[in-house]
Amino acid sequence: MALSDKDRDSMDCIFCAIASGEMTAELVAESPQAVAFRDRSATAPTHVLVIPRKHIASVDEMSQLEPHLAADLLRLCAEVARVENILESGYRVVTNIGDDAGQTIFHIHFHVLGGRKLREMG
Ligand code: AMP
Ligand code: ZN
Repeated sequence: MALSDKDRDSMDCIFCAIASGEMTAELVAESPQAVAFRDRSATAPTHVLVIPRKHIASVDEMSQLEPHLAADLLRLCAEVARVENILESGYRVVTNIGDDAGQTIFHIHFHVLGGRKLREMG
C-alpha cells in the first residue's frame, strides 16, 4: 500500500516518536488522545508541551479534520496545570503557527507555561 504524505510526515516527526514511546521524554500527564511532556529547553519553571498522539500539523488542519481534538488538548493543558500546582497562580497556553510565530516542529503542540510571572507577549 502506498504511503500518504501524512504517513511520511509522521515517520520523521520527533513528536510522533515521543507519543509512541520510541523517543524518551519526561511525561507529565496523558490521555487516550494526547500526551504532555517537559520541553527540553524550558523557559519557565513549568514548561510542558501538550500534543495529540496522532500527527496533526497545525491549528488549521486540526480545525478542519479533527475539531474535537481541541477540547482534548485543552483538557490535558488544564490537567498539567493541576499536577504542576499552577492552577491558582496562573499559567499561559500558547501555540506557535508558522514562521512569524517561530514554529519549529510541525506536529501541533500547546506550550503550558507557568511558575513565574510571565512577560507580556508580542
Ligand atoms: P515551537 O517553536 O513552538 O515549534 O516549539 C517547539 C518546542 O519543542 C521548543 O520549545 C523545543 O525546545 C521543544 N522540543 C524540541 N525537541 C524536543 C524534545 N525532543 N523533547 C522535548 N522538547 C522538545
Ligand atoms: Zn508527528
